[in-house]
Amino acid sequence: MARIYNFSAGPSILPLPALEEASRELVDYKQTGMSLIEMSHRGKIYDEVHNEAISLIKEILQVPDDYYILFIQGGATLQFGMIPMAFLAPGKTADFIVTGFWVQRAYQDAKLVGQAHAIWDGASEKYWRIPAEHELHFSNDAEYVHICSNETIGGIQWQQMPSTGTIALIVDMSSDVLSRPVEWDKVSMLFAGTQKNLAPAGMALVIMKKELVEKARKDLPAYLRYDLHAKENSLYNTPPTFTVWMTTLTLRWLKSIGGIPEIEKRRDAKANLLYDAIDASNGFYNCPVDRNSRSKMNIVWRLPDEQLEEKFVKEAEKEGLSGLKGHRSVGGIRASVYNAMPVEGVEALADFMKHFMQKNG
Ligand code: PMP
Repeated sequence: MARIYNFSAGPSILPLPALEEASRELVDYKQTGMSLIEMSHRGKIYDEVHNEAISLIKEILQVPDDYYILFIQGGATLQFGMIPMAFLAPGKTADFIVTGFWVQRAYQDAKLVGQAHAIWDGASEKYWRIPAEHELHFSNDAEYVHICSNETIGGIQWQQMPSTGTIALIVDMSSDVLSRPVEWDKVSMLFAGTQKNLAPAGMALVIMKKELVEKARKDLPAYLRYDLHAKENSLYNTPPTFTVWMTTLTLRWLKSIGGIPEIEKRRDAKANLLYDAIDASNGFYNCPVDRNSRSKMNIVWRLPDEQLEEKFVKEAEKEGLSGLKGHRSVGGIRASVYNAMPVEGVEALADFMKHFMQKNG
């Protein structure tokens, strides 16, 4: 079969070697006569897959020993509620740096649970930039600061993590996890829905400082307790075994190509191809975000009018370039170029952009 180039924001493209391996092994896992997804999650075979995923994450992201690596169901969205439930006991507060749709969602959830402050909000500027550090004034008594390293819809990305001093920094890395190193000296916790750079949907990767886990509330229903997930190695209940297995396969691929240093090279090459095509178009394509905040994972742009945008998406689809329609809340075009997107796919898109402009510009 011919695979098309899938630029969808999530669920999204996965590495072909990972998909092929899963398809070879789906029915009869390593000659056991059954599928891995039919096996007990308490057995030795699943256990190996589970622990390999954890150790590959530790190795690839150079996770220090004083952090737990957890798999929690409910996607990134459950983390929006679970974090404030764990840390916002009465009288405690958290700061939010609202850079777009995804921090807005987390902030709304936190306000239901405890005291949350939006210490910076880009809404009045249509979320077109990441704030500078001098614009950030954290609350003295904040338990944590919540940011999103890459706003998947708005197409803006923190180029560096902000320094929050002694306040714990919690980062939603759903759409750029494993595309960059993590600044462990600044980050106390990160979380990411798996359906972009890791696996199918169904879980969040959570990496959390042990001292933060110790501070988390324990008088909560079991699934909401970070300490239980940590103590049970993310096997308190039945994990989404298929998603964990695919995570392992994706991480094996990532390691085999050279890990984060290689991914960063490919990421920059891909993002530059698209931003160069936009910048060379004399305004036919217009990227609405601040140059210094441009995302390298979700590249967004507009055309002169919505009809042309619709035509662009339709004609691209015919060329095997799929999933380019911007999020329903903002419109326009969005190309998500996650780790598994080959450079050739982005070259094909940049070529398409040039031809489309020649015909319609
Ligand atoms: N945060 C970000 C940055 C996202 O892009 C998404 C999903 N696109 C979410 C959170 C929500 O993730 P989930 O659907 O896994 O709950």
